[in-house]
Amino acid sequence: MRISWRSSGNRSSADAKRQGRGEYEFSDQFDGLGPRDVLNRRIIVELGSGLEINTQLEGRWTRSKPTIRRIDSSSRTPLIQLQLAAVLLMPKPIRTDRSWGHYRPVMQDDLYGILHINLNKVELVGTDALRIGIGEVIVGNAMYQAEELRYAERLELVRRCWHRKDAINGEIGGLLAEHERQVRAGGPILERGLEVVKQLQEEMARSAGDFGIVGNAPTGDVLPSLVEAVAIADVSSQPVPLDAIHPEQQELRRRSVRQWAQHAARGAESARFRRQMREAYRSTCVICGLQLPPLGGDGNPGVDAAHILPWRHYDLDVVQNGLCLCKLHHWAFDEGLIEVRKTDSGYAVAVPPEAEERVAAFGAGFSAEFLRQCQGAIQGSRLPENQGNWPSQAYLEERRRAFNPEQSN
Ligand SMILES: [Zn+2]
Repeated sequence: MRISWRSSGNRSSADAKRQGRGEYEFSDQFDGLGPRDVLNRRIIVELGSGLEINTQLEGRWTRSKPTIRRIDSSSRTPLIQLQLAAVLLMPKPIRTDRSWGHYRPVMQDDLYGILHINLNKVELVGTDALRIGIGEVIVGNAMYQAEELRYAERLELVRRCWHRKDAINGEIGGLLAEHERQVRAGGPILERGLEVVKQLQEEMARSAGDFGIVGNAPTGDVLPSLVEAVAIADVSSQPVPLDAIHPEQQELRRRSVRQWAQHAARGAESARFRRQMREAYRSTCVICGLQLPPLGGDGNPGVDAAHILPWRHYDLDVVQNGLCLCKLHHWAFDEGLIEVRKTDSGYAVAVPPEAEERVAAFGAGFSAEFLRQCQGAIQGSRLPENQGNWPSQAYLEERRRAFNPEQSN
């Protein structure tokens, strides 16, 4: 048996507004049960791994069809395809086939439909309930009519994200926790459940760059980038199959895994730091004033969160230990060609005496003129609005001491 989308077909003009908005119906047989046998029973979807949702929906004989309806027709309970999509963190499907898109990826908000939900379990429970299990979900748009989504695999990926939610960036972790609560509450999945998926899509599109991964579009499938972010956070807990490695290679492997694990453990914190920096400085380079936010919302920003005291030695992921710099000025700062100092009224960029000589030694294509352009007071408008987030004078001085140990202050 399956639950299938059926085009609404021709309607009277009174229904013109709803034209093209399909319905979901039971079809085919399962173990001797037909659509007529499963009507007027509340539908419980067995999700697997002991999870289930009571949808507050039922099959009802409507216009000579076994259509799926709300049990309480005055409620706003989302219909079956929306509840299922929310559980699986899919973009929002739409019943109006006229609105479906023509391109890949098929699954994008309001541009695709769930065409079939194939059932691998259909069981009548008592006199008023129907318990179903899901095999595959078939999605499509105007051009790609039958893309199969393997339900169990997808749910497993969702569960993996839940499991590691604490290791990921705060907002995303919080949304995953809320999603898990919604699903574990046993249903129905209400409007808020749909909203959480939307927020996850947007949040992941915004912060993918912070994880160093390619993000989803804010209207697209969030699961692949979530899984990747989780994998980064997950590395530290993965066992290393040492017995498969030549003894001489083992120490090497141990070391690289340890370093990778340290890096991964830092992943969430670094992502948060970069994000906070970008927000505090409005993606503006303090030295040249160029504002370079991520392009289109899901690209990478053109500014970096530079550490005043390098994290390798100090591990200080706080905004006061950061400077928002474009790629070029980040490089010059890291190379020690320019430095930032606290002044009475704010901050200024200085060029250390030996920098011009070093630059001259680079030779062609680069001149001291570049350094002179950086020099001078930093405009207050390029700094964070909140003065508490301004670069710490103590860190700036500590950096100068660390970089020029022979110089006294
Ligand atoms: Zn710059």
